[in-house]
Amino acid sequence: MTVDEALEQLLALARQAPFSAREQVPLGQADGRVLAEELRATLDLPPWANSAMDGYALRHDDLAQQPLPVSQVVFAGQAPMPLQPGTCARVFTGAPVPAGADSVQLQENCEVDGQGRVSVLGALRRGDNIRVQGNEIRRGAALLAAGTRLDPIALGVLASQGIRQVAVLCRPKVALLSSGDELAGAGAVLEPGQIHDSNRVVLAALLERLGCEVLDLGQVPDDPTRLRAVLDEARQAQVIVSSGGVSVGDADCIGALLREAGEVQLWKLAIKPGKPFTFARVGGVPLLGLPGNPGSALVTFLLLARPYLLARMGVAQVQPLRVPVVAGFAWPKAGKRQEYLRVRLEGGRARLLENQSSATLLSATQADGLLEVPAGETFAAGAVLDFIGFAAGVV
Ligand code: AMP
Ligand code: MG
Repeated sequence: MTVDEALEQLLALARQAPFSAREQVPLGQADGRVLAEELRATLDLPPWANSAMDGYALRHDDLAQQPLPVSQVVFAGQAPMPLQPGTCARVFTGAPVPAGADSVQLQENCEVDGQGRVSVLGALRRGDNIRVQGNEIRRGAALLAAGTRLDPIALGVLASQGIRQVAVLCRPKVALLSSGDELAGAGAVLEPGQIHDSNRVVLAALLERLGCEVLDLGQVPDDPTRLRAVLDEARQAQVIVSSGGVSVGDADCIGALLREAGEVQLWKLAIKPGKPFTFARVGGVPLLGLPGNPGSALVTFLLLARPYLLARMGVAQVQPLRVPVVAGFAWPKAGKRQEYLRVRLEGGRARLLENQSSATLLSATQADGLLEVPAGETFAAGAVLDFIGFAAGVV
């Protein structure tokens, strides 16, 4: 099955079963959370006409009577009097423009005579340098759609509307486990044949960033009895994410268990790295079974698990942002699977990192992101391909 087909199925399943529990949170705690309802403006922004510059506010028709005496001074935060005809008002950036004034001339373009009267130098059109009421946001206008993932910019828009609390989706609870006899306990000294568990740290952090609450079930040996017990516990979560044990080796316990129970929905995808990725159900709870190799776990999380989880959160934009970049290398041998290459962007071109092994994570730390190479394609240096940047909120 191709990555696109798998994704289509995963997203269809996810959209059928959206998470629905919501809660109110203060704006200061809403970064990264998913908005549960559409928000509309309750205020015009700006709420009143204000000056875009330090200068003088006047009635355009009064330009014929220059020089104009200054009848008031208005700082930001003050409430002005209506403008007396035949005068101007000294105004500063952000100050309300007095009623009756329709233009502001910058102070650099004005001349003040010995009696403090102002003459305007240079052209001035009616309306210049005034930010009119509601020109940015009109009361009642749509601000943010339900399913928007709040970021610092969106929070600023809400703050500008005086919104202090928002309804967001409750964090979905995701059970996380690693499988493999070789995994040593956290902080343990390695025995012969053992390695440290890195996937669980990576995946826990990625899940947290996605707005999930992680139920960390630790590492489970390749022992069906132990695994059954842990999966039983995992069923209290809304989704289970595992790594390792989904290939076809003798010790690949999770896959064997799921296949035996006949609950596998997706398995063996045309993706490199990440072919053993498995989607299944454990007692009705969806399980995203990522391969154990750290590079594969990372890629399948970003390309498959992440969009699935976001779709269940009601997020519209679930796919990572793809941007076209020029490959600085050739790809003469077509692969059977869609491939995700770790690349670094240098001088506007993607440079292929030397170590593309699915077993390593280090080269991913040196990469700016992944270059997507469709199955069966070759290309010459200079070809343009889709690039998925790690920095674009993906990791
Ligand atoms: P598996 O998918 O279980 O066949 O594992 C594939 C490879 O990934 C093996 O070399 C494992 O030792 C390694 N591996 C599995 N789980 C982890 C993990 N949690 N952290 C780091 N490496 C892992
Ligand atoms: Mg294993």
